[in-house]
Amino acid sequence: MFNQPLGGNEMPRFGGPGTMMRLPAADSAAGLDACFVGIPMDIGTSLRAGTRFGPRQIRAESLLIRPYNMYTRAAPFDSINVADIGDVPINTFDLKDSVERITRFYDALLCHDTIPLTLGGDHTLTYPVLRAIARKHGPVALVHVDAHADINEHMFGEAIAHGTPFRRAFEDGLLDAERVFQIGLRGTGYTAEDFDTAREWGFTVVQAEEIWMQSLTPLAQRIVDVVGERPVYLSFDIDSLDPSFAPGTGTPEIAGLTPPQALQLIRGLRGLNLVGCDLVEVSPPYDMAGTTALTAANLLYEMLCILPGVQTR
Ligand code: MN
Ligand code: MN
Repeated sequence: MFNQPLGGNEMPRFGGPGTMMRLPAADSAAGLDACFVGIPMDIGTSLRAGTRFGPRQIRAESLLIRPYNMYTRAAPFDSINVADIGDVPINTFDLKDSVERITRFYDALLCHDTIPLTLGGDHTLTYPVLRAIARKHGPVALVHVDAHADINEHMFGEAIAHGTPFRRAFEDGLLDAERVFQIGLRGTGYTAEDFDTAREWGFTVVQAEEIWMQSLTPLAQRIVDVVGERPVYLSFDIDSLDPSFAPGTGTPEIAGLTPPQALQLIRGLRGLNLVGCDLVEVSPPYDMAGTTALTAANLLYEMLCILPGVQTR
């Protein structure tokens, strides 16, 4: 018997533990096939902050999520052992030290045979997570869903910030560049060539305009075909979604993806050898109706539903 979320008929949903989906809390990833981890950090943001409150709010909004996926019929808690292992103790006064702390935390975490599902936190965190992931699995394929490419050379002269993680990851050889997909990019750039740099590195860039009002199921199938059996990481920036659905984020861009498109994309990635996932950039102070954190919680559940070993009913 695997860990189960506390059911709504055992304890009212507004009560019980404050963990992701009211799952058991664990001190380590020992014995867990997958684990939820929070990184309460916003010191890498460049405009509006607040993502330090992201993990707590995503957990709060996750309390309504029930165990079974009623469309894909995924039954994650019948298939794999999952728990919430709490938050990474970052140093909120020092971003560079926080990156080292996150790297060490994930290095230790990945000593266990577990798949981390990370609740962010600003997008800086994906860089140290990928360092640990690549140390274990080698360079990984990447599905990066975002309004932004996050491949700036520097921000205010700083190499580490929430706009630079994928340039640093590329430079460090953490990525299988021919199998990197950046999806949903849009808006305005520092230069007209901003997205071309990624394409020159071998990344596949799918701008939002190319997929407006389209099903993302065919794109997901294309990714599955290209990635095959290789280890792959999924990094989902909530600002990929349109700000009408996800206003609670630091750098919103109009005309983004819809929640149904996010579901089509994630569900379509089932079968991939996912070695880690994150959901970043939820900023509760700007989340007026709570819809951003609610969406984030559900997208993390959908990621759980496509992990290797999860069966359908
Ligand atoms: Mn981002
Ligand atoms: Mn973004």
